[in-house]
Amino acid sequence: MIKQEVIDKVLETARIEEVVGDFVDLKKRGTSLIGNCPFHHEKTPSFHVSVSKGIYKCFGCGVGGFPQICDGTGKVLLSRSDSLPG
Ligand SMILES: [Zn+2]
Repeated sequence: MIKQEVIDKVLETARIEEVVGDFVDLKKRGTSLIGNCPFHHEKTPSFHVSVSKGIYKCFGCGVGGFPQICDGTGKVLLSRSDSLPG
């Protein structure tokens, strides 16, 4: 098991645009970044990343949430989550 403090540290250190940028070609639009969703096939970008909130959300298929740590490797990954804060 990875200690919670280590997970917290990685999540603090990892910038969401860099983590998501490994999966998605992001372009800046206003206060958000947008790109083609990695979870469903699309031609017009509906995958939004909020840098200030540290969350991502796809308005095409509804995937959203925080990047999460892949247990065992410490690598930060995107994962499906239907729950957004607030
Ligand atoms: Zn999507």
